[in-house]
Amino acid sequence: MTTVTNPATEETIRDLPEAGVEETDAAVARAREAFPAWRVVAPSDRARLLRRLAALVEEHAEELARIESENVGKPISGARAEVGMVAEVFHFYAGAVDKHHGETVPVAGGVDMTFREPLGVVGLIVPWNFPLNIASWKLGPALACGNTVVLKPAELTPLSALRLGELCLEAGIPEGVVNVLPGKGSVAGQRLVENPDVAKIGFTGSTEVGRSVMEGAAATIKRVTLELGGKSANVVFADADLERAAAAAPYAVFDNAGQDCCARSRIFVERGAYDRFLELLVEATKGVKVGDPADEATEMGPLISAEHREKVSSFVDGSVVFSGEVPASAGFWFPCTLVEASNDDRVAREEVFGPVAAVIPFEDEADALHLANETPYGLSGSIWTRDGARALRVARGIEAGVLSVNSNSSVRVATPFGGFKQSGFGRELGMHALEGYSETKNVFFSTD
Ligand code: NDP
Repeated sequence: MTTVTNPATEETIRDLPEAGVEETDAAVARAREAFPAWRVVAPSDRARLLRRLAALVEEHAEELARIESENVGKPISGARAEVGMVAEVFHFYAGAVDKHHGETVPVAGGVDMTFREPLGVVGLIVPWNFPLNIASWKLGPALACGNTVVLKPAELTPLSALRLGELCLEAGIPEGVVNVLPGKGSVAGQRLVENPDVAKIGFTGSTEVGRSVMEGAAATIKRVTLELGGKSANVVFADADLERAAAAAPYAVFDNAGQDCCARSRIFVERGAYDRFLELLVEATKGVKVGDPADEATEMGPLISAEHREKVSSFVDGSVVFSGEVPASAGFWFPCTLVEASNDDRVAREEVFGPVAAVIPFEDEADALHLANETPYGLSGSIWTRDGARALRVARGIEAGVLSVNSNSSVRVATPFGGFKQSGFGRELGMHALEGYSETKNVFFSTD
């Protein structure tokens, strides 16, 4: 049994049974049984079902946003935006169903054709920080390609995925095509990785567990896509619009209470602008509204759990330049925290996954690139400058999958998302995600 808790109040929301190995195997068997009929559903019908699902998510947007806000502790305004994206993701993949197709290749003696084939049963393992959003990024392309799915939400945040499963049925997606399996990662998650009838694991979570998923998948040569941790850079050059960069920087790391793989938690500032920028950054951080997630004005809620708060606080030491206020009530609160650091400090090396930013000076463009890349991670990052050529040079030079110039933006429905280095591999979102949920088959047809 899992107790699902509201992290803003520490109160129990619900007790839920959790899947063991037997239930996991049963869910995989159901998905396997549903596969032959689902893979041959006409593309236009599959698209129609995904469009219906998108419409149902829109219809139930407020309910889903409240479930997510209560279970994760995220501000209701942010939860609404995330649910909006979930609907958009299903609309996008509804449109993509018949646009992801093979080709004919000129060869001698016949016609050579490629087909995009579904993989079969795919296991989707998602984390607690953006439960519904990340589930949709995997579910949309998996269904569009004709796979059947076992979706395992994080143990701490299963509620929105369970509701989404009900909406899939209501949309008319046949029983067995989408199976939602609440359970522990070390039991249900691991069994999904081991089960020989699962063709692929789409995983988002920590680099450590990602590594074990990859190892486990090797036994049955499962396909894997891994979206893992990050330690992204926010590089601010002295010629940037400092006011704009400083106003944006807190939201690049304190959004979702810093529990964001894209968090720009290393803020690099060119030496000449360092003091001025730090002053502006502290002022901007003071403005982040921390409190009750149900309040429309709240911008940052609590952390996910007491255990996680313990981990986050272990990163904060004597070099703190700012630490904000938090509510005195129950809840796993942690203040917005700015730390002056060097790139070698633990706070700048490891993923904190909390509202703690390291501010670090740099000397010139080469130094900025060196520091930004001096990490095993490579997920996202931002560059702030008025020099367009430099922006592009640095964007090309940073070893990361998702970069933005004069912006915090990381995620858009139509564009590829994913990491370099130990932030993982494979791409989510856009047409790119369809590659990870299909195989290329080649057929030669003799005309002799
Ligand atoms: P995990 O990597 O442990 O969890 C992610 C998902 O994997 C969850 O569904 C989890 O299930 C499942 N899982 C756990 N163990 C296994 C296993 N052996 N086999 C298969 N699946 C498994 O991340 P946490 O949620 O514990 O967070 C720990 C740290 O990971 C964070 O502090 C952060 O640094 C990083 N992280 C990064 C994320 C990202 O977006 N890149 C997202 C979440 C975390 P269950 O929850 O039931 O254990």
